[in-house]
Parts: sequence; C-alpha cells; structure tokens
Amino acid sequence: MKVGLFGANGRMGRVLIEALDQNENAELSVATVRDDSPWIGMNVGELAGIGKKPIDCLGMSSLTQQHADVMIDFTLPVVFENNIAWCVANKMPVVIGTTGLSESQLAVLDEAAKTIPIVFAANYSVGVNLMLSLVRQAAKALGNTADIEITEAHHRFKQDAPSGTAMAIGEAIADELGRDLKTCAVYGREGKEPERDQGTIGFATVRAGDIVGEHTALFADIGERLEITHKASSRLTFAKGAVHAAQWLHGKPAGLYSMVDVLDLK
Ligand code: NAD
Repeated sequence: MKVGLFGANGRMGRVLIEALDQNENAELSVATVRDDSPWIGMNVGELAGIGKKPIDCLGMSSLTQQHADVMIDFTLPVVFENNIAWCVANKMPVVIGTTGLSESQLAVLDEAAKTIPIVFAANYSVGVNLMLSLVRQAAKALGNTADIEITEAHHRFKQDAPSGTAMAIGEAIADELGRDLKTCAVYGREGKEPERDQGTIGFATVRAGDIVGEHTALFADIGERLEITHKASSRLTFAKGAVHAAQWLHGKPAGLYSMVDVLDLK
C-alpha cells in the first residue's frame, strides 16, 4: 500500500517517515512540503535522520492521484482546507491528525467525508483512545457527585490550547453525563471566583520545554479522588497509530471514522 504525507518536514512529518520505514505492509510513496519550501528535493530518510531512502520531498503542486493510495495529514489548521480540497478532488482517502480546527473547518471535514473516507482523531495513540473509554466509565460511576478537571501539558511550540485530546476527553465525559461541553466547560480560573459549580468541567493547560503530551482526567469528591493519566514519551506512538489507521482506511467507503473505529474500542 502506497502512503503519502503532507507536511513531511514537520515534527510529526519526520516521525511519520520513520514509522512508515518501520512498517512492512505500507510504503512511503510521496512526501510533500509547501511549494516555496527549502526542503524540496531533500531526501526523506535524511530529513527524518534515518539514512538515505528511495524518495525525495516534493512541492505540493507536483502531487498527483497516482502518487498514493492514502494520504496522511499532520499539519496546521492554516493548510487544512487546501489539503482536504486536494483529497476530495482526487478521491483520496486521508488520515487527519491536525488539531485546533475551527467549527467551520470541522463542517468542511463533515462535507468531505460524504465523498471520501477519512479518519480524524485528536490523538492516534492506543493508550489515549483507551483512556477515552475509561473516562466514560469513571464519569458514569462518579460524574454526578465528583468535580471533574482535565489537565494537559505539551511542548512550548504547540499552537492550540487546550489540546485536541483534552477537548476529546471533555467531550467524552460530557456526552456520558448528558451535558453540553460548550456550556459546562471552564477554561482557567483567575482572581476571586464563586464556589466551584459541580456541573462544570474544568480545563488547565501547561506549555513547557519538549513535553510530548500528557493528559489527566481528575474525578475528585470529598474523601477520595480518581486520576486517569496518559503520558506520551515519543511522537512515534502517534505516527505508528496514524499508519495503522491508513492501512485500516484503505478500501473503506466514504465516511468519517475515528480511532475508536480503527481500534474497535466501542
Ligand atoms: P509542526 O509545526 O512541526 O509541523 C507543521 C507542518 O505544517 C510542517 O510540515 C509545515 O511545513 C506545514 N505547514 C505549516 N504552514 C503551512 C502552510 N502555510 N502551507 C503548507 N504547509 C504548512 O507541527 P507538528 O508538531 O508536526 O504538529 C502538526 C499537527 O499535528 C498539529 O496540529 C498538532 O497539534 C498535531 N498533532 C496531532 C497528533 C495526533 O495524534 N492527532 C499528535 C501530535 C501532533
């Protein structure tokens, strides 16, 4: 199976090159960068620090339908519309890991999924997707009496906050409790505040150094608290999950799928 990459030069792009190199059933067939990028013509293996490989980076406008069976997109919201439009125009299945998409971009995603198969997940690690079902279980048992707070920490370069994963954890808990996250979420606290409203779900964000990604869902009552924590120590865990999703997606009908579908965690 031929897998292509958008944004090959990004932090995730480079580990995706490595993950594809380690996978025996999927081959990296094309790696694109922006048309004005100094990385055009750079060998992908050298870019990823794994030694010379058979292909070099290509400018986005040279990408054709023949280059890949499935594309993987871990870029930034600013390029999301371009990439998804290319996939729709070329009937190309796509695995999307870009986070921080706006409401209108999510609507574009839904529309695109009517014509092409898409996996979209805020986090491609197996552990985090398992955490999404564990927090549902905890919410069911404790959510109506415990205070719920979600904390997350990431590296200093991350551009969206709270992380897409923290939001997905909040959505899962709110859904389980029949709450609407849009109205019950509290993003940070400062100064004099009224007593905590038990119906809220709090979020707190840390940005520091090279933290790959840490998430905790805290369920705290008087006398006990439960914390469910996931810590990623290498981006390779997301990249391997995305490659697994690309293999799963190949040959699927049009639709919007999640990692819960890919891992059959329902
Ligand atoms: P990065 O900044 O290192 O890479 C961004 C990529 O986007 C680069 O290749 C860059 O060239 C490209 N890009 C940016 N602006 C562009 C433009 N105008 N035109 C064309 N290309 C452009 O970021 P990263 O750390 O690799 O993360 C990428 C995305 O993946 C982020 O949204 C991040 O939150 C997300 N992410 C998701 C997961 C997950 O499991 N879903 C895990 C880690 C990161």
